[in-house]
Amino acid sequence: MNIDVELIEKVVKKVLTDVESSCPAESEYTYGIFETMDDAIEASAKAQKEYMSYSMSDRQRFVEGIREVVCKKENLEYMSQRAVEESGMGAVEYKIIKNRLAAEKSPGIEDLTTEALSGDDGLTLVEYCPFGVIGAIAPTTNPTETVICNSIAMLAGGNTVVFSPHPRSKGVSIWLIKKLNAKLEELGAPRNLIVTVQEPSIENTNIMMNHPKVRMLVATGGPGIVKAVMSTGKKAIGAGAGNPPVVVDETADIEKAAVDIVNGCSFDHNLPCIAEKEVIAVDQIADYLIFNMKNNGAYEVKDPAIIEQMVELVTNDRKKPNVNFVGKSAQYILDKVGIKVGPEVKCIIMEAPKDHPFVQIELMMPILPIVRVPNVDEAIEFAVEVEHGNRHTAMMHSRNVEKLTKMAKEIETTIFVKNGPSYAGIGVGGMGYTTFTIAGPTGEGLTSAKSFCRKRRCVLQDGLHIRMK
Ligand code: NAD
Repeated sequence: MNIDVELIEKVVKKVLTDVESSCPAESEYTYGIFETMDDAIEASAKAQKEYMSYSMSDRQRFVEGIREVVCKKENLEYMSQRAVEESGMGAVEYKIIKNRLAAEKSPGIEDLTTEALSGDDGLTLVEYCPFGVIGAIAPTTNPTETVICNSIAMLAGGNTVVFSPHPRSKGVSIWLIKKLNAKLEELGAPRNLIVTVQEPSIENTNIMMNHPKVRMLVATGGPGIVKAVMSTGKKAIGAGAGNPPVVVDETADIEKAAVDIVNGCSFDHNLPCIAEKEVIAVDQIADYLIFNMKNNGAYEVKDPAIIEQMVELVTNDRKKPNVNFVGKSAQYILDKVGIKVGPEVKCIIMEAPKDHPFVQIELMMPILPIVRVPNVDEAIEFAVEVEHGNRHTAMMHSRNVEKLTKMAKEIETTIFVKNGPSYAGIGVGGMGYTTFTIAGPTGEGLTSAKSFCRKRRCVLQDGLHIRMK
């Protein structure tokens, strides 16, 4: 037999070069950050295959690792500070609370409860199984919070995740993803469980949305991106915009309602999608409510000319919020209209008609209009109208069980908080776990590990049922 040594040498050399170029050297590990979206997705798909051979207790160890990284004091402070500086939105003290909340109260593998059916024909199990590679789009209003809660839930479910952070908060998102991958590697996890690109952009998000290896899309953001993921033909979870109303009727504990509303509305300068965006107060108690809000950190603007000046300043053509004012403090906004106040002022209030832009627009700034109505039934009717069918979040302060029930039924929101601040709805002073991805449009509600899983049935015929001989 003639052996062509030269040819064999050539083939071996080519194979070695190919292998080298597809496997970066140890030192080149970029902790989940890739130049191109295609590379990020390929790495994520490879990691997911490896991840399938890890145990459930490994998954929980990795979840605990994420919690540990986020809750380390220096990391928590750094990411909170950097998110505020980079996005120009929110306040460090609130970001610290939100990031810690996301780390501590996003459920891990305990969320994946198995269903079992046993009887004459045997045993059937239904388990929550991974989708595979998930593409997750994060908003600029909760950049790190979303990376934290989505990473915990998606990894607990056995998936890997490709993030598309908002370009306005890319630096802090990349920093956090690197930190998380470094910890996961230390714990023996496959590399690249959480990935993104160096330059997040709309173009890269589009590549991600259309990539065949991305099995599920999760959009946390405004209506545009929610619609975009739902139009891809892939399994999509949409966590979209809200405009949460808070109704206060004549039976409420007005002093408590005033405190709760000011605190809820000013939390992270009103950035959370769940935060109180307009008050609808029954005439009989409206003055007393305003009096109490003013005693608890609200500043009332009465001059119509100044209110109009604020509308010009903080909205684009009275239709959308001006991004330069989103998540800014009440003190900052008031200063721009020539009113000097101290940091003790948490929010700005004013009475407004129903069609006022501040009532109708999801502003995401601590400006809280108050609409006065003659009775509770009209309050509920208007709350439903001004929520714009988002079915996101609403609050009501009342001691009338019948009216509380009426509003809960009619407004159909994913979160309905009774006699508390909005953030009680995501586990701060209210029962329940947390998430910063609240999926109203697609119906998963407050997402958790099981939202990012496929239900699969496994049937054993005639066995393992033990109740009868
Ligand atoms: P946004 O819609 O401008 O951006 C969200 C994300 O989508 C960003 O990463 C952005 O880059 C991307 N994006 C937007 N349009 C896109 C397009 N056409 N193609 C590709 N990518 C696109 O929202 P934002 O200002 O970052 O966040 C605020 C909005 O998000 C508010 O409406 C708020 O209510 C909502 N939000 C909802 C939830 C929830 O859980 N339901 C949580 C946080 C924020």
